[in-house]
Amino acid sequence: MSVSEPITYDVLLVGAGPAGTACALALRTSGLRVALVDKARFPRDKICGDAIPSPTLKALARLNPTYAAELRTLTAPHRAEVAHSRLVAPSGAEVSISWKAPAFNSPRLHFDDALLQLVRRHTSTEVLENWPVQAVEATSEHVTLRSSQPELAPLRGRLVIGCDGAHSVVGRQLAPWPLNRARHCAAVRAYYTGVQQAPETTSDFFFLRRHLAGYCWVFPVGNGVYNVGFGMLSADIARNQVDLKQVLRQLLAEHPGLAPRFREARLLGEVRGFGLPLGGSARPLTGCRALLCGDAAALIDPMQGHGIDKAVQSGILAAEHTMRCFQQNDFGPASLHHYQEEVEHRIGRALGHRYRLMRLLAARPWLVDAVLSLARVPWVKRVFVKAIG
Ligand SMILES: Cc1cc2nc3c(=O)[nH]c(=O)nc-3n(C[C@H](O)[C@H](O)[C@H](O)COP(=O)(O)OP(=O)(O)OC[C@H]3O[C@@H](n4cnc5c(N)ncnc54)[C@H](O)[C@@H]3O)c2cc1C
Repeated sequence: MSVSEPITYDVLLVGAGPAGTACALALRTSGLRVALVDKARFPRDKICGDAIPSPTLKALARLNPTYAAELRTLTAPHRAEVAHSRLVAPSGAEVSISWKAPAFNSPRLHFDDALLQLVRRHTSTEVLENWPVQAVEATSEHVTLRSSQPELAPLRGRLVIGCDGAHSVVGRQLAPWPLNRARHCAAVRAYYTGVQQAPETTSDFFFLRRHLAGYCWVFPVGNGVYNVGFGMLSADIARNQVDLKQVLRQLLAEHPGLAPRFREARLLGEVRGFGLPLGGSARPLTGCRALLCGDAAALIDPMQGHGIDKAVQSGILAAEHTMRCFQQNDFGPASLHHYQEEVEHRIGRALGHRYRLMRLLAARPWLVDAVLSLARVPWVKRVFVKAIG
């Protein structure tokens, strides 16, 4: 076959992170021919805090209880079970929260590889790694993906699902939306070993008077390794010309709650940064023969910076919607728009509330101090835990 002749599928999934793999798992019984394309070869790193929110496992377990169980087995050598979070206010006041729902931290290098292994085990999805998508061309009949590598034949499908993250090529080409720095964060992440006084079951969050909205985190990820990072709103970074790597270095050297613990710590690898498109924006989630999920759809929780759970949930919703489109043979804008409404209803509306709450707190460090002090009172803590999820 000549390389210019497209290989045809029904559904093209671009991106094999949590959104793309969840979507492939949810399409397992659809009978559709699905290709899952990623520019990377797995296992691959993803810059992240590596905290896997509990709704991720719940959503996968609803698809099939064995998925969550297998994921636990596959990630067992690279995981920290997290039972508590410790929140430290700008004033130094702190509150500890114990979580009932099972959650864990696991480096994305291993967690995402485990998700992809589930796809290979349980579905007939064709997984194409090392397949960088450069161009996405849609007509009223079909959609075609072209790679930046000329030896790769184009792929053709009836629907493309953009699960390709914060810099989504599918989003840019089929549903463009300008970057709004007030609804976008940037963060840096590093791995450390030799961190002192850091229980392997507790994730720490430090809120800083100078850098709200944002926080510094220290999350155990198993095997004595800690994921350490700092992130804040991109609008504030630009306005105050903040160098995130420098702030992180300074915090670990000088912050009274961090410096004693990092005195003997050793940095593993580089400090790396990446963007977080926050939820609650009016970003369009559909384009011509296209749906967007996860970070490509800007679904990160503005309060916590979590997005893995929303990626999985939106991937599953996209799969359900895809099956309806094929059953009804309707891929028109009105039909695709139902997906946008569903995501808005199930995920987006709550993220909008949390965005407003985040902005309220960011402008009032005294309120963060007051809330975290008050949260030591048991009934206030219950309300607080419910609010932050
Ligand atoms: C510093 C930082 C810390 C974070 N911490 C947390 C946390 O602790 N917990 C949490 O829940 N969330 C966290 N997040 C958010 C979380 O990382 C994302 O929400 C999540 O990864 C979204 O999943 P996704 O599947 O949408 O995209 P991704 O995980 O980004 O996956 C996208 C995939 O698409 C592939 N791809 C991209 N472009 C192309 C292309 N052109 N062609 C082919 N393939 C392509 C990539 O290789 C990648 O595999 C953090 C984010 C950052 C930046």
